[in-house]
Amino acid sequence: MRREFFDRELARLAILAGAKLFLNVRAESMIREDNQVVGAITSSHRLPEVRASVTICADGMRSATAKGFARSEIASENEAEVYPGVQMELINVHDVKPGEIEMYETEDQMLRGRSLWPHARGVTLASFSSIDVFQQLKSREDNLFSEKIGPSFPIYISSFQNRKNMGFFYSQLAKDGVIYVGEASGCSGIVHGMISAHYGVYVAKMAIQSGDTSMRTIGEYENMITNSDIYRTPFCYRHIRSHYGSYKEWLERSKEIRV
Ligand SMILES: Cc1cc2nc3c(=O)[nH]c(=O)nc-3n(C[C@H](O)[C@H](O)[C@H](O)COP(=O)(O)OP(=O)(O)OC[C@H]3O[C@@H](n4cnc5c(N)ncnc54)[C@H](O)[C@@H]3O)c2cc1C
Repeated sequence: MRREFFDRELARLAILAGAKLFLNVRAESMIREDNQVVGAITSSHRLPEVRASVTICADGMRSATAKGFARSEIASENEAEVYPGVQMELINVHDVKPGEIEMYETEDQMLRGRSLWPHARGVTLASFSSIDVFQQLKSREDNLFSEKIGPSFPIYISSFQNRKNMGFFYSQLAKDGVIYVGEASGCSGIVHGMISAHYGVYVAKMAIQSGDTSMRTIGEYENMITNSDIYRTPFCYRHIRSHYGSYKEWLERSKEIRV
């Protein structure tokens, strides 16, 4: 599913539920008063700052990068280490079936962790560390993966960054009046992101109602996360074998995730 459609639908539902949304307004830095965050300075002259009793930080994967908030506020260098990649929509990948996902486990560093996600109408999603690596794998003749992508061509390429430790929460999840949710908390995946945000909002509401937004109250978010299904069952597909033992076990356990 293309992000631009998914995001628009979420935005539509959020506004109908009472949220306010401002496009082209980037949070640049946090406003601190007495060591407590009370909002954010933005890039917009129309809305230069936003004040809040509790700030929820949800800047996604960017949070772990040099310009991100998790990296500067809560994550250790090791926890936030990232690597770049490109995702492609390939046409004409041979011998794949929509709905049957293929993941390649091998000692070969270039091939290791590669996967094929066949969709309808001859489209297969696959990601690579770079376009050059895709070209090299496409021209190799010594493995099954290359045989399959050999005749294919990309019709869409997007770039992304991912954390080496993808899917695993940071050790700190709230600080100075800010609650970190989604990829900004270290978790990965749409389900995990939404559930973490649900807990974040629950705790923020509780803190605002009690009139105490210090760590005594918002620290409860860390307890909720560490005792949750999303913590016990991380979306960490680059570490499935080492964490779960098998893909089957990962899928079975993921079915049990509850809010
Ligand atoms: C190639 C790829 C394939 C994936 N496939 C799957 C999949 O099949 N299933 C699955 O569950 N997950 C998948 N994921 C992971 C999933 O997309 C993420 O885990 C999820 O989108 C995280 O949600 P989020 O809200 O935390 O962050 P995001 O969805 O990244 O949203 C963060 C938002 O914050 C905005 N933002 C960033 N910085 C600022 C700022 N300073 N001020 C204001 N706004 C800011 C961004 O523009 C963005 O709109 C995939 C990820 C990638 C990269």
